[in-house]
Amino acid sequence: MTYIKIFDTTLRDGEQSPGVNLSKDEKLKIAKQLEKLGVDIIEAGFPVSSEEDFEAVKQIAKEIKGPIICGLSRAVKEDIDICWEAIKYSKKPMIHTFIATSKIHMDEKLKRSPQEVIELVREMVAYAKSLCNDVEFSLEDASRTERDFMCKIIRVAIEFGATTINIPDTVGYSQPDEFKDTIKYIFDNLGDIISKNKVTISCHCHNDLGNAVANSLAAIKAGVTQVECTINGIGERAGNASLEEIVMNLITRKSYFNVETCIDISKIFETSRMVSDIAGMVVQPNKAIVGKNAFSHESGIHQDGIIKNRLTYEIINPKDVGWVGESIVIGKHSGKRAVSEFLSKSGYNFCDEDIVKITSSIKGLVDKNIVSKEDIIGIANKLKLNESKTKLI
Ligand code: MN
Repeated sequence: MTYIKIFDTTLRDGEQSPGVNLSKDEKLKIAKQLEKLGVDIIEAGFPVSSEEDFEAVKQIAKEIKGPIICGLSRAVKEDIDICWEAIKYSKKPMIHTFIATSKIHMDEKLKRSPQEVIELVREMVAYAKSLCNDVEFSLEDASRTERDFMCKIIRVAIEFGATTINIPDTVGYSQPDEFKDTIKYIFDNLGDIISKNKVTISCHCHNDLGNAVANSLAAIKAGVTQVECTINGIGERAGNASLEEIVMNLITRKSYFNVETCIDISKIFETSRMVSDIAGMVVQPNKAIVGKNAFSHESGIHQDGIIKNRLTYEIINPKDVGWVGESIVIGKHSGKRAVSEFLSKSGYNFCDEDIVKITSSIKGLVDKNIVSKEDIIGIANKLKLNESKTKLI
């Protein structure tokens, strides 16, 4: 079975989320959790960006023993030097360098000709390789890069020592079929050189059109063996591909993808909450896998199905990802089956007739979307009280 490496960039691209700024200690704490989660590579930061980030990457390289520790650097000699100074303490260091290859980025941002860009790739990949054996090269804005030029750049990067070639959809513009074709084009044209040099082909997708996970999965279908992603999908603008969504797709649809990863999925929920708390970025309630409502059922029909057999409405066992929360939520959409189940679990037994009354009282609480446990027990007690009064009279 093909092994897919999980390259986590929560501490680099995730940290570039607007409003997020992680201290050295916070980064180290998250890195320890990522190690427990079982990621293959931690991109710990962008060492040249600040003194604090340099120190954070250095500390992570010193303390985290399992995963590869990677640092980002532009294709600039000084950046690469500083990156190496920070990551060299790791047992498995990796330099990640990049340059933009799309026409718009080369013309407008870099103001360099395609030939100059090729020269830079040659020089800077070779320079990174002279310091560190493991070098990842990214073609920034690859999905908007002319395909033959993209292949030319990849060929040069491999020739000068890149061990991983990363294909980013930097601006989140791609569509899944299109992105799959791009990856396929690379393998069709450079398959021999990729396999001869044992190069890893990776993808890095952004979520501007909500396609980051779909594009990453399409890339896996086309043959990439590494995906770059973040916890909760945090990152620049609309964020990166979410680690938990990619991994749970691969696991839930195992026979469809036929690949494996090393992620300990039981750590997903706690990792999600830790990153959310530290980064100060709330997870949207309806977020797949880790949202507060991801495994909650409120409507009567669904609750009835879940109580009879969870598989009717649940494709993932919430416990598998370490999810904690109420799976049956009582609200105005709930039916008597769920109300009865809830009350008997709380130690209250009512006849069917009473359950019908209680359920209709709950539906009467229209001002609240979700009814608390105390509300329901309150309603049930009131009913009991009224009944005993009636009997006394
Ligand atoms: Mn990015």
